Amino acid sequence: MDFQTNYPLSELTTFRIGGPASFYAHVANLNELKEALDFAQQKNLSVLVLGGGSNVLISDQGFVGLVIQINFKGIEKVSEDKDSVMLKVAAGEIWDDVVAFAEKNNFWGIENLSHVPGKTGAVPVQNVGCYGQEASDVVEKIEVLGLNSQKVKEFTKTELDFNYRTSKLNQEWKNKYVILSVYFRLSKIPSPNLTYVDLKKYFAGRDKAMVSLNEIRTALKQIRANKFPDLTQMGTVGSFFKNFILTEEQYNTLVYCTKQNFGQEGVDRLIQVVNKFPQKNGIKVPTAFLLDICGLKGKAVGEAKLWEKQPVVIVNTGNAKAADVLELFKQVQAEILAKTGMRVTAEPEFI
Ligand SMILES: Cc1cc2nc3c(=O)[nH]c(=O)nc-3n(C[C@H](O)[C@H](O)[C@H](O)COP(=O)(O)OP(=O)(O)OC[C@H]3O[C@@H](n4cnc5c(N)ncnc54)[C@H](O)[C@@H]3O)c2cc1C
Repeated sequence: MDFQTNYPLSELTTFRIGGPASFYAHVANLNELKEALDFAQQKNLSVLVLGGGSNVLISDQGFVGLVIQINFKGIEKVSEDKDSVMLKVAAGEIWDDVVAFAEKNNFWGIENLSHVPGKTGAVPVQNVGCYGQEASDVVEKIEVLGLNSQKVKEFTKTELDFNYRTSKLNQEWKNKYVILSVYFRLSKIPSPNLTYVDLKKYFAGRDKAMVSLNEIRTALKQIRANKFPDLTQMGTVGSFFKNFILTEEQYNTLVYCTKQNFGQEGVDRLIQVVNKFPQKNGIKVPTAFLLDICGLKGKAVGEAKLWEKQPVVIVNTGNAKAADVLELFKQVQAEILAKTGMRVTAEPEFI
Protein backbone atom coordinates (compact mmCIF):
# COMPACT_ATOMS: atom_id res chain seq x y z
CA MET A 1 0.00 0.00 0.00
CA ASP A 2 1.08 3.52 -0.72
CA PHE A 3 1.48 5.74 2.38
CA GLN A 4 2.12 9.29 1.25
CA THR A 5 3.97 11.61 3.59
CA ASN A 6 3.44 15.28 4.36
CA TYR A 7 0.15 15.24 2.43
CA PRO A 8 -1.67 18.61 2.13
CA LEU A 9 -5.06 18.11 3.80
CA SER A 10 -6.46 21.29 2.24
CA GLU A 11 -6.77 19.16 -0.92
CA LEU A 12 -9.05 16.69 0.87
CA THR A 13 -11.48 19.20 2.39
CA THR A 14 -14.22 21.32 0.81
CA PHE A 15 -13.06 24.28 2.96
CA ARG A 16 -9.67 24.00 1.20
CA ILE A 17 -8.09 24.55 4.59
CA GLY A 18 -5.69 22.39 6.56
CA GLY A 19 -1.97 21.77 6.96
CA PRO A 20 -0.25 18.50 6.08
CA ALA A 21 -0.87 14.97 7.38
CA SER A 22 2.27 13.11 8.43
CA PHE A 23 0.90 10.11 6.50
CA TYR A 24 -2.05 9.65 4.13
CA ALA A 25 -3.57 6.58 2.52
CA HIS A 26 -6.83 5.86 0.73
CA VAL A 27 -8.37 2.45 1.19
CA ALA A 28 -10.76 0.64 -1.14
CA ASN A 29 -11.58 -2.46 0.91
CA LEU A 30 -11.42 -4.02 4.37
CA ASN A 31 -7.98 -5.61 3.83
CA GLU A 32 -6.45 -2.29 2.85
CA LEU A 33 -8.10 -0.63 5.84
CA LYS A 34 -6.64 -3.25 8.19
CA GLU A 35 -3.22 -2.83 6.58
CA ALA A 36 -3.43 0.93 7.14
CA LEU A 37 -4.45 0.44 10.78
CA ASP A 38 -1.56 -2.03 11.31
CA PHE A 39 0.81 0.59 9.87
CA ALA A 40 -0.56 3.18 12.32
CA GLN A 41 -0.27 0.75 15.24
CA GLN A 42 3.32 -0.19 14.39
CA LYS A 43 4.34 3.46 14.18
CA ASN A 44 2.16 4.47 17.15
CA LEU A 45 0.27 7.02 15.02
CA SER A 46 -3.09 8.64 15.72
CA VAL A 47 -5.68 7.94 13.03
CA LEU A 48 -8.12 10.30 11.35
CA VAL A 49 -10.81 8.79 9.12
CA LEU A 50 -12.07 11.03 6.31
CA GLY A 51 -14.83 10.73 3.73
CA GLY A 52 -15.30 13.71 1.45
CA GLY A 53 -13.89 16.24 3.93
CA SER A 54 -17.04 18.39 3.76
CA ASN A 55 -17.67 18.62 7.50
CA VAL A 56 -14.22 19.20 8.97
CA LEU A 57 -12.08 22.19 9.84
CA ILE A 58 -8.49 20.97 9.92
CA SER A 59 -5.85 23.00 11.72
CA ASP A 60 -3.18 24.95 9.85
CA GLN A 61 -0.64 22.71 11.59
CA GLY A 62 -2.26 19.70 9.93
CA PHE A 63 -2.62 16.25 11.50
CA VAL A 64 0.20 14.42 13.21
CA GLY A 65 -0.65 10.83 12.37
CA LEU A 66 -2.25 8.81 9.59
CA VAL A 67 -5.23 10.12 7.62
CA ILE A 68 -7.24 7.31 6.04
CA GLN A 69 -9.71 8.18 3.32
CA ILE A 70 -12.49 5.65 2.84
CA ASN A 71 -13.18 4.69 -0.77
CA PHE A 72 -15.18 1.45 -0.36
CA LYS A 73 -17.79 1.13 -3.13
CA GLY A 74 -21.05 -0.76 -3.63
CA ILE A 75 -24.81 -0.38 -3.36
CA GLU A 76 -26.67 -3.64 -2.76
CA LYS A 77 -30.33 -4.47 -2.26
CA VAL A 78 -30.24 -6.89 0.70
CA SER A 79 -33.95 -7.44 1.31
CA GLU A 80 -37.34 -6.20 0.27
CA ASP A 81 -41.02 -6.66 0.91
CA LYS A 82 -44.16 -5.26 -0.67
CA ASP A 83 -43.68 -1.76 0.75
CA SER A 84 -39.99 -1.29 1.42
CA VAL A 85 -36.46 -2.19 0.51
CA MET A 86 -33.22 -2.38 2.50
CA LEU A 87 -30.04 -1.12 0.83
CA LYS A 88 -26.54 -1.85 2.07
CA VAL A 89 -24.29 0.99 0.96
CA ALA A 90 -20.50 1.00 1.25
CA ALA A 91 -19.07 3.92 3.24
CA GLY A 92 -17.09 5.34 0.31
CA GLU A 93 -20.06 5.80 -2.01
CA ILE A 94 -20.65 9.48 -2.81
CA TRP A 95 -23.85 10.29 -0.91
CA ASP A 96 -25.62 12.02 -3.79
CA ASP A 97 -24.96 9.00 -6.04
CA VAL A 98 -26.92 6.96 -3.49
CA VAL A 99 -29.82 9.44 -3.62
CA ALA A 100 -29.68 9.30 -7.44
CA PHE A 101 -29.76 5.47 -7.27
CA ALA A 102 -32.85 5.65 -5.03
CA GLU A 103 -34.51 8.05 -7.47
CA LYS A 104 -33.80 5.75 -10.42
CA ASN A 105 -35.34 2.82 -8.58
CA ASN A 106 -38.30 4.74 -7.15
CA PHE A 107 -37.24 4.33 -3.52
CA TRP A 108 -38.44 7.06 -1.15
CA GLY A 109 -37.01 8.47 2.08
CA ILE A 110 -33.71 10.20 1.19
CA GLU A 111 -34.75 12.50 -1.67
CA ASN A 112 -34.78 15.61 0.56
CA LEU A 113 -31.13 14.86 1.38
CA SER A 114 -30.24 15.37 -2.29
CA HIS A 115 -27.02 17.21 -3.12
CA VAL A 116 -25.53 17.06 0.39
CA PRO A 117 -21.79 16.69 -0.32
CA GLY A 118 -19.65 13.93 1.15
CA LYS A 119 -19.70 10.17 1.41
CA THR A 120 -22.16 7.67 2.84
CA GLY A 121 -20.00 6.66 5.82
CA ALA A 122 -20.36 10.14 7.32
CA VAL A 123 -24.14 10.29 6.95
CA PRO A 124 -24.95 8.63 10.30
CA VAL A 125 -22.07 10.36 12.11
CA GLN A 126 -23.80 13.73 12.49
CA ASN A 127 -27.26 12.40 11.55
CA VAL A 128 -27.23 14.40 8.33
CA GLY A 129 -30.45 16.26 7.80
CA CYS A 130 -32.15 18.96 5.76
CA TYR A 131 -35.49 20.00 4.28
CA GLY A 132 -37.49 17.84 6.69
CA GLN A 133 -35.59 14.54 6.41
CA GLU A 134 -32.82 13.10 8.57
CA ALA A 135 -30.53 10.09 8.32
CA SER A 136 -32.17 8.70 11.46
CA ASP A 137 -35.48 8.35 9.55
CA VAL A 138 -33.94 5.72 7.27
CA VAL A 139 -30.75 4.28 8.79
CA GLU A 140 -31.53 0.77 10.03
CA LYS A 141 -28.03 -0.27 11.17
CA ILE A 142 -24.34 0.24 10.40
CA GLU A 143 -21.38 -2.07 10.03
CA VAL A 144 -18.13 -0.87 11.61
CA LEU A 145 -14.55 -1.91 12.26
CA GLY A 146 -13.17 -1.20 15.74
CA LEU A 147 -10.11 1.07 15.37
CA ASN A 148 -8.23 -0.78 18.10
CA SER A 149 -9.83 -4.23 18.12
CA GLN A 150 -9.99 -4.46 14.29
CA LYS A 151 -13.19 -6.48 14.80
CA VAL A 152 -16.23 -6.02 12.56
CA LYS A 153 -19.51 -5.43 14.37
CA GLU A 154 -22.95 -3.93 13.79
CA PHE A 155 -24.92 -1.25 15.62
CA THR A 156 -28.65 -0.73 15.25
CA LYS A 157 -30.32 2.62 14.86
CA THR A 158 -31.44 2.56 18.51
CA GLU A 159 -27.88 1.97 19.71
CA LEU A 160 -26.67 4.96 17.68
CA ASP A 161 -28.85 7.34 19.73
CA PHE A 162 -29.55 9.85 16.96
CA ASN A 163 -30.42 13.46 17.76
CA TYR A 164 -30.15 16.82 16.01
CA ARG A 165 -26.71 16.65 14.32
CA THR A 166 -25.48 14.05 16.79
CA SER A 167 -25.17 10.32 17.22
CA LYS A 168 -22.98 8.22 19.49
CA LEU A 169 -20.45 8.26 16.63
CA ASN A 170 -19.62 11.94 17.16
CA GLN A 171 -20.09 11.78 20.94
CA GLU A 172 -18.86 8.98 23.24
CA TRP A 173 -17.81 6.70 20.35
CA LYS A 174 -15.84 9.41 18.57
CA ASN A 175 -12.68 8.00 16.92
CA LYS A 176 -13.52 4.44 18.05
CA TYR A 177 -14.95 2.96 14.84
CA VAL A 178 -14.55 3.12 11.10
CA ILE A 179 -17.92 2.84 9.37
CA LEU A 180 -17.75 0.25 6.63
CA SER A 181 -21.33 0.31 5.39
CA VAL A 182 -24.73 1.74 6.19
CA TYR A 183 -28.09 -0.04 5.85
CA PHE A 184 -31.02 2.14 4.77
CA ARG A 185 -34.70 1.17 4.86
CA LEU A 186 -36.44 3.00 2.00
CA SER A 187 -40.09 3.04 1.02
CA LYS A 188 -41.54 1.82 -2.28
CA ILE A 189 -44.66 3.87 -1.62
CA PRO A 190 -44.51 7.39 -3.04
CA SER A 191 -44.50 9.71 -0.03
CA PRO A 192 -43.33 13.25 -0.88
CA ASN A 193 -42.35 15.18 2.24
CA LEU A 194 -42.87 18.81 1.23
CA THR A 195 -43.60 20.36 4.61
CA TYR A 196 -40.34 22.33 4.85
CA VAL A 197 -40.92 25.98 4.01
CA ASP A 198 -38.70 26.18 0.87
CA LEU A 199 -40.22 23.04 -0.65
CA LYS A 200 -43.74 24.16 0.25
CA LYS A 201 -43.10 27.41 -1.60
CA TYR A 202 -41.51 25.71 -4.61
CA PHE A 203 -44.41 23.30 -5.08
CA ALA A 204 -47.18 25.76 -4.16
CA GLY A 205 -50.34 25.04 -6.12
CA ARG A 206 -49.27 21.49 -7.00
CA ASP A 207 -51.01 18.31 -5.90
CA LYS A 208 -48.35 17.23 -3.40
CA ALA A 209 -49.10 13.53 -3.81
CA MET A 210 -48.18 13.73 -7.51
CA VAL A 211 -44.72 15.29 -7.08
CA SER A 212 -42.02 12.90 -8.33
CA LEU A 213 -38.61 12.06 -6.90
CA ASN A 214 -36.98 13.69 -9.90
CA GLU A 215 -38.91 16.92 -9.36
CA ILE A 216 -37.85 17.02 -5.71
CA ARG A 217 -34.20 16.53 -6.65
CA THR A 218 -34.45 19.26 -9.29
CA ALA A 219 -36.16 21.62 -6.82
CA LEU A 220 -33.48 21.03 -4.21
CA LYS A 221 -30.71 21.67 -6.70
CA GLN A 222 -32.18 25.11 -7.28
CA ILE A 223 -33.01 25.81 -3.63
CA ARG A 224 -29.56 24.75 -2.46
CA ALA A 225 -27.81 26.80 -5.17
CA ASN A 226 -29.21 29.89 -3.42
CA LYS A 227 -28.24 28.64 0.03
CA PHE A 228 -24.68 27.44 -0.53
CA PRO A 229 -21.80 28.75 -2.64
CA ASP A 230 -20.53 26.79 -5.61
CA LEU A 231 -17.79 24.56 -4.21
CA THR A 232 -15.72 25.02 -7.34
CA GLN A 233 -15.60 28.77 -6.64
CA MET A 234 -15.34 29.01 -2.86
CA GLY A 235 -14.37 26.76 0.02
CA THR A 236 -16.98 26.00 2.67
CA VAL A 237 -18.37 23.24 4.87
CA GLY A 238 -21.96 24.40 4.41
CA SER A 239 -23.72 25.58 7.58
CA PHE A 240 -21.00 26.33 10.08
CA PHE A 241 -23.36 26.98 12.99
CA LYS A 242 -25.92 24.58 14.41
CA ASN A 243 -29.47 25.80 14.78
CA PHE A 244 -31.08 25.96 18.21
CA ILE A 245 -33.68 23.55 19.50
CA LEU A 246 -34.76 25.29 22.70
CA THR A 247 -36.77 24.38 25.76
CA GLU A 248 -39.59 26.73 26.79
CA GLU A 249 -37.34 28.24 29.48
CA GLN A 250 -34.41 28.86 27.08
CA TYR A 251 -36.81 30.38 24.58
CA ASN A 252 -38.13 32.77 27.25
CA THR A 253 -34.54 33.90 27.93
CA LEU A 254 -34.07 34.55 24.23
CA VAL A 255 -37.32 36.55 24.05
CA TYR A 256 -36.23 38.59 27.09
CA CYS A 257 -32.76 39.40 25.64
CA THR A 258 -34.22 40.12 22.20
CA LYS A 259 -36.64 42.60 23.74
CA GLN A 260 -33.82 44.28 25.72
CA ASN A 261 -31.54 44.69 22.71
CA PHE A 262 -33.84 44.86 19.68
CA GLY A 263 -37.21 45.98 21.12
CA GLN A 264 -40.66 44.62 20.34
CA GLU A 265 -39.87 44.65 16.61
CA GLY A 266 -37.08 42.12 17.25
CA VAL A 267 -39.42 39.93 19.28
CA ASP A 268 -42.05 40.05 16.51
CA ARG A 269 -39.46 38.94 13.97
CA LEU A 270 -38.37 36.13 16.28
CA ILE A 271 -41.94 34.87 16.69
CA GLN A 272 -42.45 35.01 12.92
CA VAL A 273 -39.34 32.94 12.25
CA VAL A 274 -40.14 30.38 14.96
CA ASN A 275 -43.62 29.88 13.47
CA LYS A 276 -42.03 29.19 10.10
CA PHE A 277 -40.06 26.20 11.44
CA PRO A 278 -42.40 24.12 13.61
CA GLN A 279 -40.48 21.44 15.51
CA LYS A 280 -41.68 18.26 17.20
CA ASN A 281 -39.37 18.33 20.23
CA GLY A 282 -38.63 21.86 21.35
CA ILE A 283 -38.61 25.28 19.70
CA LYS A 284 -36.40 25.68 16.63
CA VAL A 285 -34.59 28.98 16.23
CA PRO A 286 -32.47 29.23 13.07
CA THR A 287 -29.04 30.66 13.84
CA ALA A 288 -29.31 32.61 10.56
CA PHE A 289 -31.94 34.76 12.30
CA LEU A 290 -29.64 35.54 15.25
CA LEU A 291 -26.75 36.38 12.93
CA ASP A 292 -29.03 38.66 10.96
CA ILE A 293 -30.57 40.47 13.92
CA CYS A 294 -27.09 40.97 15.45
CA GLY A 295 -25.94 42.56 12.17
CA LEU A 296 -23.23 39.99 11.55
CA LYS A 297 -23.88 39.23 7.85
CA GLY A 298 -20.67 39.64 5.87
CA LYS A 299 -18.43 39.78 8.97
CA ALA A 300 -14.91 38.61 8.10
CA VAL A 301 -11.60 37.69 9.70
CA GLY A 302 -8.77 37.45 7.17
CA GLU A 303 -10.20 35.59 4.19
CA ALA A 304 -12.88 33.78 6.20
CA LYS A 305 -16.27 35.41 5.93
CA LEU A 306 -19.94 34.92 6.83
CA TRP A 307 -21.48 34.58 3.39
CA GLU A 308 -23.82 37.49 2.61
CA LYS A 309 -26.49 35.33 0.99
CA GLN A 310 -26.66 32.91 3.94
CA PRO A 311 -24.70 33.97 7.03
CA VAL A 312 -24.64 30.53 8.71
CA VAL A 313 -22.25 29.58 5.92
CA ILE A 314 -18.60 30.55 6.44
CA VAL A 315 -16.72 30.82 3.17
CA ASN A 316 -13.04 30.72 2.40
CA THR A 317 -12.80 33.57 -0.09
CA GLY A 318 -9.22 32.77 -1.07
CA ASN A 319 -6.51 31.69 1.29
CA ALA A 320 -8.30 31.61 4.63
CA LYS A 321 -6.48 29.88 7.46
CA ALA A 322 -8.13 27.62 10.01
CA ALA A 323 -7.06 30.24 12.57
CA ASP A 324 -9.13 32.89 10.71
CA VAL A 325 -12.21 30.66 10.72
CA LEU A 326 -11.76 29.88 14.39
CA GLU A 327 -11.32 33.55 15.31
CA LEU A 328 -14.41 34.48 13.27
CA PHE A 329 -16.37 31.73 15.01
CA LYS A 330 -15.26 32.95 18.46
CA GLN A 331 -16.13 36.58 17.70
CA VAL A 332 -19.56 35.62 16.35
CA GLN A 333 -20.18 33.37 19.35
CA ALA A 334 -19.29 36.19 21.78
CA GLU A 335 -21.46 38.80 20.01
CA ILE A 336 -24.49 36.52 19.82
CA LEU A 337 -24.10 35.51 23.45
CA ALA A 338 -23.87 39.14 24.55
CA LYS A 339 -26.95 40.23 22.59
CA THR A 340 -29.25 37.21 22.81
CA GLY A 341 -28.02 35.05 25.70
CA MET A 342 -27.62 32.13 23.26
CA ARG A 343 -24.33 30.25 22.80
CA VAL A 344 -23.93 29.10 19.20
CA THR A 345 -22.06 25.88 18.55
CA ALA A 346 -20.21 24.74 15.46
CA GLU A 347 -21.44 21.99 13.16
CA PRO A 348 -18.15 20.79 11.59
CA GLU A 349 -15.61 18.74 13.44
CA PHE A 350 -12.48 20.69 14.51
CA ILE A 351 -9.32 18.68 13.87
C1 LIG B 1 -22.08 23.02 0.56
C2 LIG B 1 -22.36 22.09 1.72
C3 LIG B 1 -23.66 21.85 2.09
C4 LIG B 1 -23.95 20.98 3.16
N1 LIG B 1 -25.25 20.74 3.48
C5 LIG B 1 -25.54 19.92 4.52
C6 LIG B 1 -26.90 19.67 4.88
O1 LIG B 1 -27.82 20.16 4.25
N2 LIG B 1 -27.13 18.86 5.95
C7 LIG B 1 -26.11 18.28 6.66
O2 LIG B 1 -26.41 17.56 7.63
N3 LIG B 1 -24.82 18.50 6.32
C8 LIG B 1 -24.51 19.30 5.29
N4 LIG B 1 -23.20 19.53 4.95
C9 LIG B 1 -22.13 18.93 5.77
C10 LIG B 1 -21.54 17.64 5.16
O3 LIG B 1 -21.75 17.58 3.78
C11 LIG B 1 -22.14 16.39 5.80
O4 LIG B 1 -21.92 16.41 7.19
C12 LIG B 1 -21.53 15.11 5.20
O5 LIG B 1 -22.22 13.99 5.65
C13 LIG B 1 -20.04 14.95 5.52
O6 LIG B 1 -19.56 13.87 4.73
P1 LIG B 1 -18.02 13.70 4.43
O7 LIG B 1 -17.84 12.36 3.78
O8 LIG B 1 -17.49 14.85 3.69
O9 LIG B 1 -17.45 13.65 5.91
P2 LIG B 1 -16.02 14.19 6.42
O10 LIG B 1 -16.02 15.67 6.44
O11 LIG B 1 -14.92 13.52 5.68
O12 LIG B 1 -16.05 13.65 7.92
C14 LIG B 1 -16.98 14.17 8.85
C15 LIG B 1 -16.85 13.39 10.16
O13 LIG B 1 -17.26 12.03 9.95
C16 LIG B 1 -16.18 11.13 10.22
N5 LIG B 1 -16.24 10.08 9.20
C17 LIG B 1 -16.35 10.23 7.86
N6 LIG B 1 -16.40 9.02 7.26
C18 LIG B 1 -16.32 8.10 8.24
C19 LIG B 1 -16.30 6.66 8.27
N7 LIG B 1 -16.39 5.93 7.16
N8 LIG B 1 -16.18 6.05 9.48
C20 LIG B 1 -16.09 6.78 10.64
N9 LIG B 1 -16.09 8.13 10.67
C21 LIG B 1 -16.21 8.77 9.48
C22 LIG B 1 -14.91 11.96 10.13
O14 LIG B 1 -13.89 11.43 10.95
C23 LIG B 1 -15.40 13.31 10.65
O15 LIG B 1 -15.45 13.28 12.06
C24 LIG B 1 -22.89 20.38 3.87
C25 LIG B 1 -21.56 20.64 3.49
C26 LIG B 1 -21.30 21.49 2.42
C27 LIG B 1 -19.88 21.73 2.01
